[in-house]
Amino acid sequence: MAGSTLDNPGHESYACGMATDLIIIGGGPAGYVAAIRAAQLGKKVVCVEKERVGGTCLNWGCIPTKALLESAEMFRKMSQGAEAYGVKTQEVSADWGAMVARSRAVSDRLCNGIEFLFKKHGIEHVQGTARIPAPGVVELTALDGTVSRLQAPKILIATGAQTREIPAFPMDGTRIIGSKQALTLPKVPSSMLVIGSGSIGSEFSYVYSSLGCKVTVVEALPNLLPNEDDEVSKAMERAFKKRGITCLTGAKVESVVKTDAGIKAHVTRPGKPDNDVEAEVCLVAVGVSPVVPDVQGLQLTDRGFIQVNERYETNLPGVYAAGDCIGGIMLAHAASYEATQAVEGMFLPGTTPKKPVLVPGCTYCHPQIASIGKRERELKQSGVAYKVGKFPFQAIGRAVAAGETEGFVKLIFGAEHGELLGAHIVGEGATELIATTQLGISAELTDEDLHAMIFAHPTLSEAIHEATLAADGVPIHA
Ligand code: NAD
Repeated sequence: MAGSTLDNPGHESYACGMATDLIIIGGGPAGYVAAIRAAQLGKKVVCVEKERVGGTCLNWGCIPTKALLESAEMFRKMSQGAEAYGVKTQEVSADWGAMVARSRAVSDRLCNGIEFLFKKHGIEHVQGTARIPAPGVVELTALDGTVSRLQAPKILIATGAQTREIPAFPMDGTRIIGSKQALTLPKVPSSMLVIGSGSIGSEFSYVYSSLGCKVTVVEALPNLLPNEDDEVSKAMERAFKKRGITCLTGAKVESVVKTDAGIKAHVTRPGKPDNDVEAEVCLVAVGVSPVVPDVQGLQLTDRGFIQVNERYETNLPGVYAAGDCIGGIMLAHAASYEATQAVEGMFLPGTTPKKPVLVPGCTYCHPQIASIGKRERELKQSGVAYKVGKFPFQAIGRAVAAGETEGFVKLIFGAEHGELLGAHIVGEGATELIATTQLGISAELTDEDLHAMIFAHPTLSEAIHEATLAADGVPIHA
């Protein structure tokens, strides 16, 4: 604990070295990024995290799922079509244990990286659970039960969110599971019921179905990935069905009972026959709820998130919060942005922190989905006049060469001035291509600006150029 202000009531009390400027509770994409940014600004930072730094994203979320997705994708390509590329394969099989081990190793490597960055920036990581008995004070219960106190003029809560349970059928970790267990199941189940088709439900549906599991996904709203543009959701549903995933949309899981073989669920859909779905495992992916530490007098929103003002400060002076625990756009990159803004607002005089507005969303199944800015239905609702350009990857040379012709780029421009308002991409590389369109929206580029740009040939990004031309009725390759 060298360097921090810590006293251990009843045991020892010491304050050594530089006084702590900021205590951060939580070491995920909000907490660790805030710690590094504050250290860059010359501040002495202590980060309290009860597990490894990296948070859900690095340990149990974004990163290990992407590693599993890569394994599933490689298996799919090798087992279903390598010969079409002139690659002869003998028996290809999936070694799930090795896939999980690789995914855990990828997580470990990145968490080690954050630990290294903490050391480099002189940030202390204290392992334990924090509570805030009063502004400026953090009470820490270490893993061995020892209680001590830390003090700093500023505290940032970055405790994230956790899987939301369905109270009628709580998770048991083996037959009714959440995303954490889905990352390390002992084997690929023969069948899986996935409740919810947000990013988590969709990504795991893809992983497990690619490995031979019979997946049924149930979504309460009328479309899969209901947050996306409707055309994207429909394309996704077609792709899932083509892969043998049963999609029940506008559906409600009324009950899940455990059976000898796994689970049996009763699913209702207004106007359609009920379904009984039997599966070995049920994955619950219906969103997340905030993790709120024990903080005396902390004000929450009516949905249980930590209430913050425009400077990310809670109702308690000097106590700030950022990331999933404050709600809003609950994505790792939005959390890191909020945390950086909060820290700069605390320590850079004259800075007015901003809230995330233009945030890309990415879902990493096959085809990939990525979007930014306005969806068509929002513009319709708000009466904004717009024009749409859509271009399929099947007419893009690079996509044909890669054998990845599924999907399209859809761009939405303002009708009057031609400014880029939204981009919705389905297909190979979508999650990387979206950055180009993000830059376009941020820089307020118009269809004419994009027409005038020379996109490299042959690349997938040519679909962005073609979609822009299509918005004005002049695509070259369609
Ligand atoms: P989500 O909120 O994105 O999706 C949950 C889905 O479940 C929604 O479509 C909702 O309509 C549906 N749903 C809710 N209750 C239901 C019910 N009883 N029956 C059927 N459907 C129901 O949540 P998630 O997919 O669990 O992800 C959790 C969080 O993690 C989100 O904030 C998400 O953005 C984030 N995440 C992001 C990524 C990514 O960016 N690739 C990946 C994983 C998770």
